[in-house]
Amino acid sequence: MEPQVGGISKTVQHHGNYFDLGGHRFFTKLNDVNVLWKEVLGDKFLKRPRQSRIYYNNRFFNYPLTAMNALFNVGLADTCRILLSYAHAKLFPSQEEKTFEQWVSNRFGKRLFSIFFKTYTEKVWGIPCSEIQAEWAAQRIKGLSLYHAVINALFKPKGSKITTLIDEFDYPEYGPGMMYNEMRSLIEKKGGTVSVQEKVVEVFHENNCVTKIRLENARGESRLVSGTDFLSSIPITELLQILSPEVPHAVSVAAKSLKYRSLITVDITVDEPQLFTDNWIYIHSPEVKLGRIQNFKNWSPSMVADKSKTTLGLEYFCNENDDFWNSPDEKIFEQAADEVSKIKICKRDKITDYLVVRVPKAYPVYDMEYPQHIAVIRDYLSRFSNLQPIGRYGMFKYNNMDHSIQTGLYAARNILAGKPLYDVWNVNTEEEYHEEQKEALESETDTNINAELSMIMRHSPEQTEKEEEEK
Ligand SMILES: Cc1cc2nc3c(=O)[nH]c(=O)nc-3n(C[C@H](O)[C@H](O)[C@H](O)COP(=O)(O)OP(=O)(O)OC[C@H]3O[C@@H](n4cnc5c(N)ncnc54)[C@H](O)[C@@H]3O)c2cc1C
Repeated sequence: MEPQVGGISKTVQHHGNYFDLGGHRFFTKLNDVNVLWKEVLGDKFLKRPRQSRIYYNNRFFNYPLTAMNALFNVGLADTCRILLSYAHAKLFPSQEEKTFEQWVSNRFGKRLFSIFFKTYTEKVWGIPCSEIQAEWAAQRIKGLSLYHAVINALFKPKGSKITTLIDEFDYPEYGPGMMYNEMRSLIEKKGGTVSVQEKVVEVFHENNCVTKIRLENARGESRLVSGTDFLSSIPITELLQILSPEVPHAVSVAAKSLKYRSLITVDITVDEPQLFTDNWIYIHSPEVKLGRIQNFKNWSPSMVADKSKTTLGLEYFCNENDDFWNSPDEKIFEQAADEVSKIKICKRDKITDYLVVRVPKAYPVYDMEYPQHIAVIRDYLSRFSNLQPIGRYGMFKYNNMDHSIQTGLYAARNILAGKPLYDVWNVNTEEEYHEEQKEALESETDTNINAELSMIMRHSPEQTEKEEEEK
């Protein structure tokens, strides 16, 4: 649909600089995907050190936490309050654990929940933590406890497989788009075709079989393409609206009930050679709307054209078509420039260039009702013999690049085999997560806060560590 390939994982170029939409670490436990990534980019991957911090209450907290830094930042009085609130949670836990707030507060106490979980999570999702499924926290934060957090902050962990992966990560020299541009060129070299700037506007089916699709370009010209097998990474909510004949009413209601969160990145160029050493900083402070800051020079020096300058990606979470989304670019930039100078990241008059990028449907929202809607949709789509949903929004799953790619690989193998060998819905499931936990918990030294907290980040927008770091 767009001029370039890569979707949310594309890299945008502007005045010689390269901007990632968020920051895309290449990190996977899926062997198939690792092999594929190495096959495509080989030695064009850089090994990058990872550093990130949390900004809250005018202070920077090391992330993962370290004892002295956390104590110094929070202060003795607040540390005592945190411990008292933790004791209260242990003695009188909430009997219900349906929501994110209840789940986290029961494990960490209300005070720690409000400092390290509440504000950022609510910025990302745009809904109160009391309306987010506990299941989401359970999947993302499982295994993390205050006890282990304190032990690990006090005693440096000896390291583990997972820690290593989390302390450094692979990154293509010119950002993630490099991977997907290269994939496109490999496909074309082998005689395949990749069409861009054409949108799928109608998907025709009969007898539970998709027969053809209608594509439309920006000039309104359309063409039909028929085929035997179809994989769709179109947002699942949109796919269900363009099926022809129309889907049953109950399925349409389920699709319209799914919610998502969008992202706007304000990419700025600052006339300073170095601002800070982190790859990214989480902004927990409620006084600014800004959610996270990427420093692309620290992802890869080649992302910045002029070494005497620094480029930052300022991330704002919002809803598609809300007031912020619909504001003119200039107004969005003005707010971003005000906020970044307010929290003393850089001086406003040092910003020399900007680009506003809107990323629709970046995060599927796991609210209280989504499981029942997805069940209706999966049940309906399962009747099709030649249509497989894949990817992130294509399946309404909090998939990282590796999960998204694995669903594509499974779907392709199903086509080659002529039968459903793999269930694409099994990618990025609890089982896989448990495996990861088991590995992390194999020895005592493996159980470290770095690994566990990283999982938080992967699974919170930035599916936290792996997860979206997104969170
Ligand atoms: C801020 C952020 C940070 C992230 N960080 C990481 C990370 O560090 N590591 C990681 O592994 N993953 C990360 N991810 C997740 C990663 O971006 C996704 O898993 C991945 O991009 C999903 O790929 P996809 O192909 O399923 O969907 P998309 O990337 O959304 O691609 C879908 C494509 O379909 C096209 N399309 C949609 N509708 C139509 C239509 N009707 N007709 C034609 N084309 C259409 C779109 O233009 C797009 O090109 C992050 C995500 C976000 C939002």
